[in-house]
Amino acid sequence: MPTSFTDERWDSISAYTRETFGREDDHLAGLMTNAVAQGLPDISVSAEIGRLLMMLTSMTRGRTAIEVGTLGGYSGIWIVRGLRPDGHLHTIESEPKHAAFASEQFELAGVTNRVTIHRGKGLDVLPTLAGQLGERSVDVAFVDAVKAEYPDYWTHVRPLIAPGGLILADNVLGTGSAWSIDDESHPNTEAMTRFNRAVADDPDFEAVIIPFRLQGLLVGRRSASGVV
Ligand code: SAH
Ligand code: MG
Repeated sequence: MPTSFTDERWDSISAYTRETFGREDDHLAGLMTNAVAQGLPDISVSAEIGRLLMMLTSMTRGRTAIEVGTLGGYSGIWIVRGLRPDGHLHTIESEPKHAAFASEQFELAGVTNRVTIHRGKGLDVLPTLAGQLGERSVDVAFVDAVKAEYPDYWTHVRPLIAPGGLILADNVLGTGSAWSIDDESHPNTEAMTRFNRAVADDPDFEAVIIPFRLQGLLVGRRSASGVV
């Protein structure tokens, strides 16, 4: 019986969970391969995290989601599939090439009329989007763009989240090999610690981190009418 977590064990456990829970339709299964072939970075969530995003979204029975960091549309397609049939995803992307690729993928996934890509930087777009959507109107907010900006995303996104709505944030423990939260010398650590602490300490929210290997997904929920 092995007692320590070596890289090999993590890899075999990740492969096991992906094989067991990571099934995707043919379009999603090829999406990131195509994205990488067109020069996009291979940094989408994995299939089982995509499934988790869809499940959590559907548990809110919500109609409105926002995402910061579209990339190729992979996570966005999972999220929009968790919304009610008349629901809508607003996703923000600063890189024109990524936004153009994602736009094609939303078309191929048949969700174009349920997704708006807002082209620009998260911190520029969020105030405008907040004005359009209004406070307490968002059922799911998924944050996955500039790691050092998470505390600022939280400032903008928090007022938008409806009672019972979710804040979901990727990479709250790290980005895999490039950076992890126990590296105190890395600039992301200070910002991410501040973000995690802010959500954890928020009296209106219950939150945990699901520690997917080194990356981690924060799941927080605004209490519904004072009841957890
Ligand atoms: N959520 C995606 C992955 C997002 S990767 C998925 O799981 O499928 C992060 C994305 O954020 C990249 O596409 C990058 O171009 C974009 N990005 C970088 N800086 C940004 C900013 N300031 N505002 C919005 N998007 C940004
Ligand atoms: Mg990510």
